[in-house]
Amino acid sequence: MGHHLTVSGVAVDTRHYIDGERVSGRETFGIFSPIDQRDLGEISQGDAADCDRAVTAATRAFPSWAALGAEGRLPYLRRFAEEIGKRADDFCLAESNDAGVLLSRMQHGVVPRAMQNILFFAEAALTLQDKTINTKQAVHYVRHDPAGVAVIITPWNAPLMLSTWKIGPALAAGNTVIVKPPEWAPLTCSLLADAAEAAGLPPGVFNLVQGSGAVTGASLVSDPRVRRISFTGSVPTAKIIAEVAARNLVPCSLELGGKSPFIVLEDADLDAAAATGALMYRNATQVCLAGTRFLVHERVRDAFIEKMRAIVGELSIGDPREAATEVGPIIHPRQLERVKGYVDRAVAAGATVLWGGQAAPQGGLFFLPTMLTDVGEDAEIVREEVFGPVLVLQTFSDDEDAIRMANDSVYGLGGVCFGETEHAKSVAEHVRTGFIWVNSFGIRDLEAPFGGCRNSGIGREGGDWSFEFFSDIKDVILPTAPFKPSFSHR
Ligand code: NAD
Repeated sequence: MGHHLTVSGVAVDTRHYIDGERVSGRETFGIFSPIDQRDLGEISQGDAADCDRAVTAATRAFPSWAALGAEGRLPYLRRFAEEIGKRADDFCLAESNDAGVLLSRMQHGVVPRAMQNILFFAEAALTLQDKTINTKQAVHYVRHDPAGVAVIITPWNAPLMLSTWKIGPALAAGNTVIVKPPEWAPLTCSLLADAAEAAGLPPGVFNLVQGSGAVTGASLVSDPRVRRISFTGSVPTAKIIAEVAARNLVPCSLELGGKSPFIVLEDADLDAAAATGALMYRNATQVCLAGTRFLVHERVRDAFIEKMRAIVGELSIGDPREAATEVGPIIHPRQLERVKGYVDRAVAAGATVLWGGQAAPQGGLFFLPTMLTDVGEDAEIVREEVFGPVLVLQTFSDDEDAIRMANDSVYGLGGVCFGETEHAKSVAEHVRTGFIWVNSFGIRDLEAPFGGCRNSGIGREGGDWSFEFFSDIKDVILPTAPFKPSFSHR
């Protein structure tokens, strides 16, 4: 097989990238585009030997990368971000084709953010060594020491954004990384290896092993030389990874699924709430942080539904490479079947379809934006993450009721709350999730923490929280007065 595939004119290397070299896998797996299900080509499948080689390379590269310090690493990481920028068009086309993400979103949102993910943490690392704690008896110089080899595993719904969100702080903190991209959308991570190479990152600092979770991912996370595992994906996979990590006593950061509440209070601006509500269909709702459980005050229910119906009716569904498209395809026939199954079972149990509820007219992997209602609080569609364009709407009668329903979930990732500002803020403060947007949605600052409660994950990433995770915190303690050794004192 050749070493490249070409998608919308962009050549992407299909091999691993280990120790500064492209390496062919002994086996391959096929990928296709969710846009039209055309074959895109064959990708290397990492086996135990490939994974071993990557961990060996990352382990060997670690001491000198760590020794550079944040200032020494900064120029490399600046160049890395620049090289991503130089390939912006390729990144956009590759991920639009293999993951079905809107090309416009790739151009205006994801690629600039990917660069920022590298640059922000590289610069933030400069001030990390500076924390000192002064007490009466000592000065504590708190240092963030690099932890070692970090394995980074990401899902298919946002491969470039989520991979760089982890690679940035991991490298900035002085670790070396091995990236295991999602097997349904592996192309932009391969382009990242090209950018790392062009930026002159020393061999072994950035490694990429393509392949499945069950073989490649499992092999990487079980290697005892790995010191950090940062994972974004589903709950079942997280439980498997956490068990393996526990056996090796390796810290893992887990960013998982959600069934986040979208609360509309009686005093909400219904136009703004409805327009923001429609945004939940972005990426065909294959978005972990989307508000998918609409909780609407009973007195504004009908008005809200009519406003949101009007906006959703105008959404343009289709080829994500076209500028006007707002909702693209579902990633895979298996995922489409899952989505249909949730809708069919909900309807069989008595749910009403407010809009959508079926495949889109263009067929393929396109499904209509859907809203279900008339469901019990314990209904499957209220409890489980669909990860497709199917939302559910329930009503509440007062704030207490809204908060109770919002918190009645095994998930606790995010949330949205629309209402008069102070009112909405006070309700939001009682919702038990990792974050919640008041009269807004999707604002993400790199300084701020991100992560979930309960089944939505363990740990926080973003800003200092990323460095806490990717570092070994060390306290260097200097006494303020000459130290007198004594067996009785302290
Ligand atoms: P998944 O858990 O099936 O796969 C995620 C990644 O894990 C893939 O790269 C996969 O190859 C790998 N993997 C699978 N089994 C593995 C194993 N045994 N060992 C090591 N790696 C393994 O998830 P998915 O279906 O790709 O992604 C969708 C899920 O991700 C949804 O639940 C969604 O909510 C969640 N998600 C969460 C966030 C967040 O930040 N909280 C962001 C995006 C997506």
